[in-house]
Amino acid sequence: MITPVFDNHYVTLPERFYTRLDPVPVADPSLLAVNEPLAVEMGLDPNWLKSEDGLAMLAGNQMPAGSAPLAQVYAGHQFGGWSSRLGDGRANLLGEVRGPDGTLWDIQLKGSGPTPYSRMGDGRAWLGPVLREYVISEAMHALGVRTTRALAAVETGETVLRERAFPGAILTRVAPSHIRVGTFQYFASQKDVDGLATLLAFASQRHNPDLAPDDALGFLAHVVKAQAYLVARWMGLGFIHGVMNTDNTHVGGITIDYGPCAFMDTYDPAKVFSSIDQFGRYAYQAQPEILVWNLAQLASSLLPLMGDDTNKSIEAAQEVLHGFGPAYTQSWLSIFLPKLGIAGEAEGDIELVQTFLRLMAETGADFTNTFRALAEDVVPAGEGFAAWRAAWTARKAPNASALMKAANPAFIPRNHQIDAMIAAAVASDLGPFKRLMDVLSRPFDDQPEHSDLMRPPAPEEEVRQTFCG
Ligand code: AMP
Ligand code: MG
Ligand code: MG
Repeated sequence: MITPVFDNHYVTLPERFYTRLDPVPVADPSLLAVNEPLAVEMGLDPNWLKSEDGLAMLAGNQMPAGSAPLAQVYAGHQFGGWSSRLGDGRANLLGEVRGPDGTLWDIQLKGSGPTPYSRMGDGRAWLGPVLREYVISEAMHALGVRTTRALAAVETGETVLRERAFPGAILTRVAPSHIRVGTFQYFASQKDVDGLATLLAFASQRHNPDLAPDDALGFLAHVVKAQAYLVARWMGLGFIHGVMNTDNTHVGGITIDYGPCAFMDTYDPAKVFSSIDQFGRYAYQAQPEILVWNLAQLASSLLPLMGDDTNKSIEAAQEVLHGFGPAYTQSWLSIFLPKLGIAGEAEGDIELVQTFLRLMAETGADFTNTFRALAEDVVPAGEGFAAWRAAWTARKAPNASALMKAANPAFIPRNHQIDAMIAAAVASDLGPFKRLMDVLSRPFDDQPEHSDLMRPPAPEEEVRQTFCG
């Protein structure tokens, strides 16, 4: 068995970037899941992860040689309100490992105990949100969306108090980095220009190695483009992130923070799941607009690195931000046109998609299943859809069905299935978890033996609210 070899970089940054800190050991850990294909991709030995030493690492009880655990500091706007210091309140970055293809991966334990950034929190996580993030983030990956990944989940043998006592758990989250818009905001708000420059060089190296390490404007342009594409992908799947605070907006353009997120069943542009999103700030249709707001915070944080002529810097940054609209529209079309089996782009295509979405909203159609059925030439009944169908048929590509089957998943992690999976896991039955993981690893394949997982919830099964965990 091969123990992991750590290749740490974040810990070489100045001390004000983090607090060096080991996870807090837990009473009686046991393994829930190890993501073996991902382990291999990262150059880790799955058998080691499943060994006694592996479990001890995944539980935070024993740090392997070469790791340098730390909690990262960041700030951020939460629901529009400024928090000058957030940081990893329940996570430890153990270090980085390099995969066989040269890629660096952060290995982070989430739920691994309190840190100096915990504020009122207990530093822990419970089984429900841990398995939820495991399933949804891995489903996102299988759906082709850039995301943090789930390497493993363990039970801690301790209880965590939320509405009641729940079994405690720890998720091993891995990602190319954990740098957020809020990380830049932290140094900008401290007027720490040296820190900002160091962070920019680090983030550039990690995410945009072709850029000069001090090219703040170029970096901003990359983040704008990557995030515009990411959010367009969410829109194409009916995914609602639910907590698009600036500390949950990743500068590598990957999905991070699976708290109250959810996939819609019925299409409703104003849909909100999160129990704490009272005013619909992070509703489905608000996501692109909120992203622009978050990117503007990044732009303003980067201004001190754009040269001495502030007016000129502001103009240049604004121009980059203005690029969001065209980048988003282009991304949106590149995602929604294949969903309708359309190749290339022609006059009237935007309206064709928008009309379909409007009809879906008016009829309360199931987002996922209605798109998927188009591949079989099945359009919902009704006058509006009939007229739309004629225009659509005229625009379809010769290979439309194949295009649509590759763009419209048959399976998404539906909320009621996730909730049922968690209830079973709390009762020590991991069967539904394993089944969801298996089916969702091939979301575009027809899997008739699992057609019950395609079904929208019955009214009594419907999950109306999600929680941060
Ligand atoms: P989030 O809303 O998940 O983005 O979290 C916002 C902040 O709260 C971050 O600094 C988290 O680390 C922190 N946090 C969330 N849950 C807990 C917890 N149970 N204990 C300590 N800190 C937490
Ligand atoms: Mg967060
Ligand atoms: Mg969270």
